Amino acid sequence: MKTITTKKKSPLTDQSKLKMLCDLVCDDIEGLFDLLQLEYKDNGRMYSMSCPIHGGDNPSAISLYPEGNSYRGNWKCRTHGCEMHFKPSILGFIRGVLSNQKYNWEKPEDPTISFEEAVQFATEFTKQDLKNLHISRSDRNKQSFTSIMNYVKNKEEEKQQKIPRELVIKTLQIPAQYFIDREYSPEILKKYDVGLCNNPNKEMYNRVVVPIYDKDYNSMVGCSGRSIFEKCSECNCFHNPEHSCVSKDDAWKHSKWKHSANFKTQFSLYNYWFAKEHILESLTAIIVESPGNVWRLEEAGIHNSLAIYGASMTDRQKVLLDGSGAMNLVVLTDNDEAGRKAAQQIKEKCQNTYNVFIPTISKSDVGEMSIEEINQEIKPLLEKLK
Ligand SMILES: [Zn+2]
Ligand SMILES: [Zn+2]
Repeated sequence: MKTITTKKKSPLTDQSKLKMLCDLVCDDIEGLFDLLQLEYKDNGRMYSMSCPIHGGDNPSAISLYPEGNSYRGNWKCRTHGCEMHFKPSILGFIRGVLSNQKYNWEKPEDPTISFEEAVQFATEFTKQDLKNLHISRSDRNKQSFTSIMNYVKNKEEEKQQKIPRELVIKTLQIPAQYFIDREYSPEILKKYDVGLCNNPNKEMYNRVVVPIYDKDYNSMVGCSGRSIFEKCSECNCFHNPEHSCVSKDDAWKHSKWKHSANFKTQFSLYNYWFAKEHILESLTAIIVESPGNVWRLEEAGIHNSLAIYGASMTDRQKVLLDGSGAMNLVVLTDNDEAGRKAAQQIKEKCQNTYNVFIPTISKSDVGEMSIEEINQEIKPLLEKLK
């Protein structure tokens, strides 16, 4: 006789619970690395490290993406393909690392810990009880997705160190000659407090600092700094040419751009503090890749642009944008292959919520355009959207 069981799905086979668990782990990815005692490098949206699973020593063997477009925590071992054995999810990563730490796993024939043990580890790490991780149908709709995001955002905001704007201005030599040389006006650099940090005791010493303010424009929540030095042809780092070359371990300190500690660009949209009222008024937001693009548009009298700090929009940035009141998006990513891919990614992410426009520009990016070119190529579309 056939029996009909009404047994509840086991938590381990409930894909939506596993996905939520993965997301929670990714929300504190550096906490996970610390717990597993892994050395890593934060490259913005991607972390790299030597492979802690097969145990190699190539420092860029692993690429791990805690944001990702569809599935967060995707990873890849470039030298041995360890993700093919353990699955490229964050749970697969945990399983691989623990298998190495517990059974000295190095190759596919070696013993591994079970998937259940990896899930157990992740639930303890995130202080969740997987059985009671409650996901009702209504929790899957956008409203509660947003509330989860806001919860995570608030947690993240607590971690940010806030520095009052007056103090920021005192610390920097504003305006930065570096950007004046790149044809930005001193006025625009003053408006955005862009200046040189010449204090050897500061994290941003010998960098041109671009402060990022909270939405109320009261305090700095983070900053980006461009090295004032050019790329060294010997070691490829951006160090003082009068000093000797940089070791591999110190290379990150001498990168072209550096973000302040604990600041996550993926949680932020540059210029939100100034643009928000203009977005509400025009119902239109312009999306660009970098602060320099925002400044150029401001110089041309366009005040509703936001920068995503790179070539993709994260889920958190989309949530921020959703709170802005915009109905139209004008996507002005760079005029190169990466920029066109970024525009496509933004369109896919946003076309159900916004009218998306992707104009073509004649220069390689908005920062390269003259005011005249902006007036001719971009303003007519903005006029039409009014
Ligand atoms: Zn590996
Ligand atoms: Zn060098």
